[in-house]
Amino acid sequence: MALVRERRQLNLRLPLPPISDRRFSVSSSVTTTTVAATSGCNGISAGDLEKLNVLGCGNGGIVYKVSHKTTSEIYALKTVNGDMDPIFTRQLMREMEILRRTDSPYVVKCHGIFEKPVVGEVSILMEYMDGGTLESLRGGVTEQKLAGFAKQILKGLSYLHALKIVHRDIKPANLLLNSRNEVKIADFGVSKILVRSLDSCNSYVGTCAYMSPERFDSESSGGSSDIYAGDIWSFGLMMLELLVGHFPLLPPGQRPDWATLMCAVCFGEPPRAPEGCSEEFRSFVECCLRKDSSKRWTASQLLAHPFLREDL
Ligand code: ATP
Ligand code: MG
Repeated sequence: MALVRERRQLNLRLPLPPISDRRFSVSSSVTTTTVAATSGCNGISAGDLEKLNVLGCGNGGIVYKVSHKTTSEIYALKTVNGDMDPIFTRQLMREMEILRRTDSPYVVKCHGIFEKPVVGEVSILMEYMDGGTLESLRGGVTEQKLAGFAKQILKGLSYLHALKIVHRDIKPANLLLNSRNEVKIADFGVSKILVRSLDSCNSYVGTCAYMSPERFDSESSGGSSDIYAGDIWSFGLMMLELLVGHFPLLPPGQRPDWATLMCAVCFGEPPRAPEGCSEEFRSFVECCLRKDSSKRWTASQLLAHPFLREDL
């Protein structure tokens, strides 16, 4: 199986350890540090910004809350340092390229890019999403609220897929919220812009837990799966997780490893919505979590699903 052959490349980004255990040592010294001046973007230069606190740090960089010294406008600044593995700088470059091309209310907005070539630091200035991520809502979301989120996320995915962009890392931690109840797709570090119609997306990037069966094992689909359908699988899993409060492919509390996950995704039955959910939601999840990617609904089809009808 392709996964077994290439397991060393697998990126099993399951629940992150506590911030203190991660490879970034983020100390209070970042607080109120002025961002070193570099070339400007959209009228804002890096020297105009003041770091307030760390919003998050993932595998690829540190995200700071920053304030514009003159306008007091708040932004998020995602930075990768030169002493990091070059793979992370490449990821940030890829994210920059995608954010430059996108302009949608359902995708986090990029206000500009700062580069410090001498030290190899690259930063993206983004709109600040003040409501955290969907991860914090796991288990506490009603079907009605879920439908509201689903509509926005699917509009975002439909927009991206029309631009031939595959996200490849849809998961609760990469969906950002603001106080206007808007949810936006973020973190394009492992996304891909498809150039040729034959491009495939079976590489093991993104968060393994949310990877679709055909991405685990490209041979199962004869190597010709619908490449956008991988995002729909991840989206379906995420919907279920937000409702039930735990990662749906495994029993609550079980810490997954790649082998358990691979077996659950490739050999197990797709997870279903639990008893007590509406028929519409059960059907919605089933349309997202079809193991055969050619039978999975597209983002546009899902937007017309009865679960998302206004009057429900
Ligand atoms: P990972 O590798 O874990 O996916 P990453 O390094 O790719 O992370 P992001 O997912 O883009 O980085 O951001 C990490 C965290 O920073 C997010 O989960 C979120 O908490 C916070 N964050 C990112 N962008 C913003 C934003 N625009 N506004 C507010 N918070 C943000
Ligand atoms: Mg992320």
